[in-house]
Amino acid sequence: MKHLVFTGSGLAALSLVTRLIDNGVADSHLITLIDKDRKENNDRTWCFWEKQEGYFENVVYRKWKQLDFF
Ligand SMILES: Cc1cc2nc3c(=O)[nH]c(=O)nc-3n(C[C@H](O)[C@H](O)[C@H](O)COP(=O)(O)OP(=O)(O)OC[C@H]3O[C@@H](n4cnc5c(N)ncnc54)[C@H](O)[C@@H]3O)c2cc1C
Repeated sequence: MKHLVFTGSGLAALSLVTRLIDNGVADSHLITLIDKDRKENNDRTWCFWEKQEGYFENVVYRKWKQLDFF
């Protein structure tokens, strides 16, 4: 079994690992995430815009249909 090691479990690593799990890669690989932070707090809140439901729809916490810039 191959071993994939990610240094840093931030957005990039977690996005990739989520897709590796969804694509079945995790079934044949051991995946290890190493981070210097214990990640016990919610240290990031990501906002983004999209035209239709996206990959992370199931973890979306809030949505707005309109955004005004002043
Ligand atoms: C407060 C805040 C709000 C943000 N809001 C948005 C937003 O609304 N929308 C948006 O698109 N972007 C937002 N960003 C930017 C977004 O967070 C970054 O673009 C994104 O996180 C970068 O992903 P990354 O995986 O490269 O780095 P990160 O997500 O920062 O992950 C890097 C990880 O590596 C770990 N690490 C660092 N050094 C080491 C080491 N030596 N050994 C082990 N682990 C290590 C860190 O602890 C961290 O967990 C925000 C950033 C901040 C700080």
